[in-house]
Formats: sequence, structure tokens, C-alpha cells
Amino acid sequence: MAHSSPGSTTNGKPRVIVVGAGFAGLGCARRLAKVDDMQVTLLDRNNYHQFQPLLYQVATSQLASSDIAYSLRKLFADDENVAVKLGEVATIDAAARSVTTADGDVIAGDAIVLAAGSQPNFFRTPGAAEHAFPLYSLDDALALRSRILGVFEAADRDASLIDQGALSFVVVGGGPTGVELAGALADLVEETMAEEYHDLAVTSVQIHLVDLGPTLLGPFSEDAHEYVAKVLGRKGVRMHLGVAVTEVGAGHVTLADGTTLRTRCVVWGGGIMAPAVAGALPDAQGRGGRLTVSSDLCVAGAPGIYAAGDIANIPAPDGSALPQLGSVALQSGVHAADTVMADLSGKPRSSFHYHDKGIMAMIGRGAAIAEVGPHRHELHGAIAFSAWLGVHAQLMTGVRNRIDAFVSWGSDYFSKRRGPQILDHADAAPIDWDEDRAPPLATTGPQQR
Ligand SMILES: Cc1cc2nc3c(=O)[nH]c(=O)nc-3n(C[C@H](O)[C@H](O)[C@H](O)COP(=O)(O)OP(=O)(O)OC[C@H]3O[C@@H](n4cnc5c(N)ncnc54)[C@H](O)[C@@H]3O)c2cc1C
Repeated sequence: MAHSSPGSTTNGKPRVIVVGAGFAGLGCARRLAKVDDMQVTLLDRNNYHQFQPLLYQVATSQLASSDIAYSLRKLFADDENVAVKLGEVATIDAAARSVTTADGDVIAGDAIVLAAGSQPNFFRTPGAAEHAFPLYSLDDALALRSRILGVFEAADRDASLIDQGALSFVVVGGGPTGVELAGALADLVEETMAEEYHDLAVTSVQIHLVDLGPTLLGPFSEDAHEYVAKVLGRKGVRMHLGVAVTEVGAGHVTLADGTTLRTRCVVWGGGIMAPAVAGALPDAQGRGGRLTVSSDLCVAGAPGIYAAGDIANIPAPDGSALPQLGSVALQSGVHAADTVMADLSGKPRSSFHYHDKGIMAMIGRGAAIAEVGPHRHELHGAIAFSAWLGVHAQLMTGVRNRIDAFVSWGSDYFSKRRGPQILDHADAAPIDWDEDRAPPLATTGPQQR
């Protein structure tokens, strides 16, 4: 049953509603939690925070879900002024400063901070939303892992399925998500599957990486483009650059150059856009459907509403928008809390300044790339991995206080070969092998000599 909670009523303390418990929402809620005369309601559709930078490792059976998901109630157990609520926000009433959940609950406050992240963008590619596996949430990673394991199990039982694309993987998108996933998949095949599937011709595995642009990791330097192509090439990944995916079917992917790739596992890392809830403030939506915010993170034309992280187009000093990155989200979430506190106490606001941590990506075990510092100094290999670990350990402090386990996992991951992994949930992504079946070879057309 719907209920309404008025704002400003909890012992006379102002109430701030934070929508989303990603890096931005956690940064914001943690900052506000330190202020005793503030009441915070933290709403998320999940009862956990998910550490997105490592989703690809869950998808490729290198980490368990509990390694990258943290209970929100545990994180705020000691903060009496933070109420964690499980719920999906469906609409926002900016004038009333209230949100309504998909279950019909109405929660009102004195300020609302929107930190609902992004969602995958399939760019209206026919069949992509139905057949491709995005990699944006823990649920996505678990579904993808099941599909990866499912095709190996099926091909192991029936080798004829290899002709139906059972061991062919297509990764769409040559940004960090696609590159990291393709590299980790190649590692999984080489280090684990080759050892565990004795009857299977694991050498038949094909990993295709497709991108519309002419290079992988577009925002990186020329050298970086060459480095990543070389590393992935060495791992056996086949690259299709400068070509669009025009259709995704149950058993194939079609490219704009006419190529058809038979596959039962398409990973979509092709792009992101604003989450559905941003549509509740249509007048404030800008590029990618994201919310336009001022430099102090107030949503344009909606007093009392603030936005941080991926959901916002946060102005950069050069007039563009800051990228969708964990460190931007964490820092802007903290700043949004400061702006809220300034507004509620009648003090002047300050502008948000992003402390740039650089850009980086892991290209499978043993290889990483980073561009750090104001002049984008480029690092490769182990030293780039150390930079990756440092930045992500810092992100982790926004989530948990203990980062030693994370750092020790990191060194272990990078330097040592790990044993075979336990493969489970194989039944969570069923495959109908009769759907979109390839025609038998040589049944049509002229006879081949
Ligand atoms: C696969 C992948 C790898 C990445 N790797 C890196 C990396 O290595 N380094 C890096 O810096 N960045 C990386 N990023 C980007 C980074 O993860 C994001 O920029 C960052 O998570 C954004 O934080 P956020 O808090 O804005 O959103 P999110 O982390 O997406 O959090 C949004 C939260 O809002 C919740 N939510 C959404 N809609 C609703 C709703 N309607 N109601 C209630 N709750 C809702 C979600 O459940 C989620 O918990 C990666 C992203 C992906 C997808």
C-alpha cells in the first residue's frame, strides 16, 4: 500500500533522499552520515553496492559475486541517521521534492540527490536488447557467466554445436568494458577451459571484438591503441574495427561489411546512457539523456534536486562534460552532499573540481594500460597495473574501510597463475539451439570441388 513520508519531520531534522548507492550515492550518503542533525534515506533497487570495475571478472569466473557486492545495511550499520531502503524509484515530483517507488511508496524530503548511474545503450541495433548480454550490473555479470559456461558445457556434450557458434564469442565495443572482457575471456579459455574440458577442442574458441571506431580504447594515445591491439592479438582475439554491428540474432551477429558471425554469446559493451529515472525530469535532460547540472551539481530548473555521478552531465573546465568514471562519481557524490548542506544551512555553495586520477584499463592478466597525471603520462604492464590498483583501492575506500584484502587480491591476480575455477549457475542462461540455426553446409548453391 502506498504511504507518504513528509519531509523535515524526523525530529525536526532535514531529510535528504539519495537515489542510488553506487560510487556517487555512497560518497554522498557517507558525507551526510557524519552530520548528526541530518536524516538520510538511501534508496537503491538492490540491497547491495556493486563494484562495477570488476564485473567482468565475475562474468569470466575469476571472482565470486560476494567479492564485488557489499551489503548496504552493513555499510551503514553504525550510522543511525542513515535509513537504507530497498526500492526502485519510478517517478520524481520536483515541486514536492518527493520520489515514488515502483511499489507506489512516496518518500518526501527537503532535498533529493539523484545518483542512479547509467544503463546500457543498444543504439536501436535490431535484436541487441533481446539477444546480447550487457555488462552493467551484478545480475548482468551472473547471466553472462552462465551463458559462457553454458556454451562450453553444451559443446562438450555435442561437438556439432561448435558449427552453431557454441564456442564463438562476440564482444561489441572496444572501450574499457569490451577490451577488459575480451582479454579476461581469452585468459579464461587458455588457463581454465583448456585444462578442464578434456574432450573439447578448446582451440576452436573464437573471440571477436567489434568496434565502430578505427581503434580500441579511443580516448587513449596512439601508442596505447597499438599496445592494446598487440596484447589482444597475442591472446588470439580477432578485431573487427571501423565496422558497425547491424543486427544481433539468437545465433548470429551481422556486421555492416556483410560478415556474419555465428555465435551464442554476444557481450554488449557498446555504450551507456542515462537511466530511466532521469526521464522524470525531461526539461533537465541533455546529452545521452543525462541531467544537466551547474558546477555546484544542482539540477537545472529544479530547486532542491541535485545530481552526481554518471546520471549527470557535469561541466568540465573546457566546457565539455566529465567522463563516466568511478572517481568522478565518488568525488561528485561527496560534493553534492556539501552543496546540499550549504543550501540547507543557508551558506554559499562552491563549485565542484574534479581531481583527475587518469584513465586506465586491464587487458587480461599481466597487461594493463594507464594514462596518469596532468600530462597523461602513459604506463604499460606491471606499473600500469599498480596505478590501476591504487586508483581502484581509493575507490574501494568509498565503499569499505578495509582495502588490504583488495590490494592483496590485486597482486595475486596480476602476478600468479590461478587454479581452475569452480563453474556454476550453468542453467541460468538456457539456449534454444534450434532457434536461428545455421543451415547445413553445402545443401544449397553449386557443388564445391
Ligand atoms: C563494466 C564496467 C566497468 C567499469 N570500469 C571502470 C573502471 O575500471 N574505472 C572507473 O573509474 N570506472 C569504471 N566504470 C565506470 C564506473 O563504474 C561508473 O562511472 C560509476 O559506477 C558510476 O557511479 P554512479 O554512482 O554514478 O552509478 P552506479 O555505480 O551505476 O550506481 C547507480 C546505482 O543506482 C541504482 N539505481 C539505478 N536506478 C535506480 C532507480 N530507479 N531506483 C533505485 N536505484 C536505482 C543502481 O542499482 C546502482 O546501485 C565501469 C563501468 C562499467 C559498467
